[in-house]
Amino acid sequence: MVEDPGLLAMFGAALGLVPPWQVTSVIFDKEAGKLEIGLDFPRGSRFACPIEGCRESACPVHDTAEKTWRHLDFFEHQAFLAARVPRVNCGEHGIHLIAVPWARPGSGFTLLMEVAMLTFAKQMPIAPLAEMAREHDTRVWRVVEHHVGASRAVLDVSGVTQVGMDETSARRGHDYVSIFMDLEKRRVMFATPDKDADTVKAFAEDLAAHGGRPTTQVERVCCDMSPAFIKGIGEHLSERPKTEAAEEETGADTAVEAVELANTTVAVQPDPGGGSSGAVSNAPGELHRPQIVFDRYHVVAKANEAVDEVRRAEAKIRPELKRSRYAWLKNESNLTAKQREALAWLTRPSMGLQTTRAARWRDDFNGFYEQPTRDEAEAYLRRWCYGAKRSLLGPVKEFVRMVEAHWEGIIAWQDGQLSNGLLEGTNSLVQAAKRRARGYRSKAKMITIIYLIAGKLPLPEIHTI
Ligand SMILES: [Zn+2]
Repeated sequence: MVEDPGLLAMFGAALGLVPPWQVTSVIFDKEAGKLEIGLDFPRGSRFACPIEGCRESACPVHDTAEKTWRHLDFFEHQAFLAARVPRVNCGEHGIHLIAVPWARPGSGFTLLMEVAMLTFAKQMPIAPLAEMAREHDTRVWRVVEHHVGASRAVLDVSGVTQVGMDETSARRGHDYVSIFMDLEKRRVMFATPDKDADTVKAFAEDLAAHGGRPTTQVERVCCDMSPAFIKGIGEHLSERPKTEAAEEETGADTAVEAVELANTTVAVQPDPGGGSSGAVSNAPGELHRPQIVFDRYHVVAKANEAVDEVRRAEAKIRPELKRSRYAWLKNESNLTAKQREALAWLTRPSMGLQTTRAARWRDDFNGFYEQPTRDEAEAYLRRWCYGAKRSLLGPVKEFVRMVEAHWEGIIAWQDGQLSNGLLEGTNSLVQAAKRRARGYRSKAKMITIIYLIAGKLPLPEIHTI
């Protein structure tokens, strides 16, 4: 037991204590491997009322409650802070437990311990972290979940205009998690289980909850060609025609005009019953709609699927194609020497393989992304579609139809500046999150880790205590 006042004051300074709090005892229990630092305040001290907005800064102490907090280890010994926490009597609000500066209300850890846990949780899985901290993992999870939730609660996303959406499987091909990224700040804004039209709705709601205007603020969305995303963007990230008002317009000749007229009317004279979103278009008659950009990686993945479909069908009569899937799909520079040799053998003209032709169409399609200008790229793709349609390869023709049906969004890639390899980015991210959340089956836990490592959240940082 340390009793030297000078030493106690030194402990207090090391902890960053401010008056009236002071260190009154330091007890080291060697047997139990524990260090307990006792904190107290002098008789007659007064404290601020803990109720938010109350200006009473000198309430008398009514009584106290004994509390202990786990602090950062002192070498290999567990360290604790112990204090009697006053309940003060505010003239206006009555009797309340005060908030202590070294811990958040209700936590059994000091803030410094919590920040240390967050720091480690960004770098390592929770299970070994809990073991290292000699704490039950549910307590570690509670700390991480609290700070991620609290940081997200104050997030302001009103300035986000470029959004990337991607879904990824949480476990081998099923169990999806959808991820929404701010492409400028390169951070995950929102993640949610599943992938369907409601996924975009959930994102729009989250956007609205964080200062955003979902139907008017998003200018570009980068995503794959999944109908659920495309439908969701039209329904939840775009302005909707004011159909109710449109029906009342009798002077309009066409439905489109009716919508335009209705929109203009709303813009000039806001009608409380006229629109559900309350959003007013800047350009009368033009409803806001984000530009959809189909991510290069996803489009090329579809071309690769077409090649593999041709290969699988052909493998039934050409057994040499069996087990050659990756040789056809990998980037040539990523092939092993053996795969390269196999591919050189299979692609010889005398083999006359349909798969070779399909792969060539795929390679030519990739040339679209190498064109120097948007116009050249569009002309290139038109020529490519014209030829590929006549390839007599069913899956390739199917791919051409898909390209034509998603033309604008595929060409829009050429407008540039959107991250490429969005999927690769999110995928490696999710792989990392999966490793961190290893041993836990809940998707909510995985999402918490995704926010922690890729949300760029304003998490608390280390100061004193
Ligand atoms: Zn008060």
